Amino acid sequence: MTDTGAANTHGSGSHSRRGVVLGGTGGSWRVRVDDSSLVEATLRGRLKREPSNEAPRRDSDGDRLKLAVGDEVLVEPDARGGTWAICEILPRRSRLARRAPGGGYGERIVAANVDQVVIVFAAAKPEPHPRMLDRFLVIAEANELAARIIVNKVDLVGEPSAHERFTPYERAGYPVHFTSTKRGDGLDGVRAMLGGRVSVFAGPSGVGKSSLLNAIFPGLSLRVGEISESVNKGRHTTVGALMIPLPDENGGYVVDTPGLREIGMWALSAEHLDVCFPELRPYMTQCRFADCTHTVEPGCAVKDAVDRGDIDAARFQSYLKLRDELGQAEF
Ligand code: GDP
Ligand code: ZN
Repeated sequence: MTDTGAANTHGSGSHSRRGVVLGGTGGSWRVRVDDSSLVEATLRGRLKREPSNEAPRRDSDGDRLKLAVGDEVLVEPDARGGTWAICEILPRRSRLARRAPGGGYGERIVAANVDQVVIVFAAAKPEPHPRMLDRFLVIAEANELAARIIVNKVDLVGEPSAHERFTPYERAGYPVHFTSTKRGDGLDGVRAMLGGRVSVFAGPSGVGKSSLLNAIFPGLSLRVGEISESVNKGRHTTVGALMIPLPDENGGYVVDTPGLREIGMWALSAEHLDVCFPELRPYMTQCRFADCTHTVEPGCAVKDAVDRGDIDAARFQSYLKLRDELGQAEF
């Protein structure tokens, strides 16, 4: 963050500065440069070029496929003055994409350099929907991103009941945070795991995502409104993901993305779905058939584990249901 000089070693002009892409709609991107100031920048023409091994994009959306929210870039003042240009996109350390890396056609990158996916549900109002939670978790796993769960509004049901409901997820290895913005419970733990990281926030509306962030980072709401507004006024109606810098001593960002819902839109293959359920992994290597789908095969160690209660039956039902859906969507 403070290595202003380092940016110049990347071979771009001596006036280049390092920054992070916070948002953008097609042509114009909002970049937070290393001193925390915000600039609007356009992508240099040569960076828009399609790599030759990629199929032509069918997208009319300009450089959206090339650059993503969360990308670290070098920007420099444009020769024409007053404006900024993105002259280099630095290598990504991770991504949340609609297609697995190396999938041939251009990836649909929702956000770059993501550290974790944080899925927020309410203990009640709205009632938690485990199948939806499982979808979010599968998307995180398919992108090889760490995932965590926040169960907010525990004040409405009491902690024991909330715990009981999410035990299968804790047993599967996911960290589960129980919070109440109303009572101020669990906020320190959430703050500690957000600080210094890039977290994609997902979850149904009304579960308290904004309340939670505002309670942890007082004053954030104003800045969220500010950023959303300026990004929204672009010419496109669909707004992509948005990075919100956290006022935490360790830094960090929350990525707010509207497009994390339908699993059918994500290019996951049915054969690799079992890997996306971490609690299946110890058993799936012990099935009689190496290509066991854990549906109808004899000698399936996964089904045996479900029968014994070692794998949660509802989670396994989610696996079967998603497998069905993905099987139909395959092309
Ligand atoms: P978002 O759509 O996920 O951003 O949810 P909001 O932050 O807008 O919250 C939705 C509603 O839930 C609001 O009326 C909040 O006051 C309420 N709410 C948020 N957190 C809690 C909580 O911990 N307990 C209770 N009882 N209500 C909450
Ligand atoms: Zn099996």
